[in-house]
Amino acid sequence: MPIRQTLGKIRLAKLASRCPYRLLGLMLFWHIAGCATQAPPPPAKGGVYHTVKPGETLYRIGRAYDLNYAELARVNRLRDPNQIHVGQKLFIPGAARQLPVEIITPTDSNVTIPSVPKFSDLPDNAIIWPIVGGINSRFGRRGATFHDGIDISAQEGTPIRAIDKGEVIYSDQLRGYGNLVILRHAGGLVSVYAHNQVNLVAAGQVVAQGDTIAKVGSTGRVTGPHLHLEIRKNNVAQDPLLYLPQLCCRESSDIVDAERLITE
Ligand SMILES: [Zn+2]
Repeated sequence: MPIRQTLGKIRLAKLASRCPYRLLGLMLFWHIAGCATQAPPPPAKGGVYHTVKPGETLYRIGRAYDLNYAELARVNRLRDPNQIHVGQKLFIPGAARQLPVEIITPTDSNVTIPSVPKFSDLPDNAIIWPIVGGINSRFGRRGATFHDGIDISAQEGTPIRAIDKGEVIYSDQLRGYGNLVILRHAGGLVSVYAHNQVNLVAAGQVVAQGDTIAKVGSTGRVTGPHLHLEIRKNNVAQDPLLYLPQLCCRESSDIVDAERLITE
């Protein structure tokens, strides 16, 4: 037996003979310390592990899964909620599958008066309106929350067209959004179509401008059928009205007024 190990055994034997309770306490401490360094065991009830990606914070991850960040910190035994790192696995209680946090929680635009996009920010070819309808709710602060897009009213089942050519990066249900389609376009532009009656495209599919991608519905948190449309530039929500061609879709009241003018 190596000398160091032999000496250790002798010391432990001496300690045990002189003060057995102190040795017991020491062993108990080792046991507890050993447990604390292990990863949290997967809880028996439902949930998934989320792998932290660049740009994600515990707050944004919580928002995506509809959980308080403090609760996430508690479940995952994080002493400092600010100290999560890329690649870390976090347990998300109650979740059925891993969600794209970056897509669900766009970086806050913090714009009260949105700035007009630079010419270079606009897509090469003009984008088109996904549906024709009145604007029920505009982009911007809505009470204590921020409305990341515009709501365009239309009848249930109205075809929704892609505002530009692009790739489908999400087509599924999402809490609050109902049936949701997200398209990625050139130049860091992303368009989001929510509350759909049905999605007609699948993730990975490439679509052309004007392709029907979904139908207007009232799934998710809504009071009636409409399309919630978001346009994001580098994952920051922008006012869609600054990107969409003007004079196409006006406020419902404007359209009524225009019709009256024409018929009168
Ligand atoms: Zn909306």
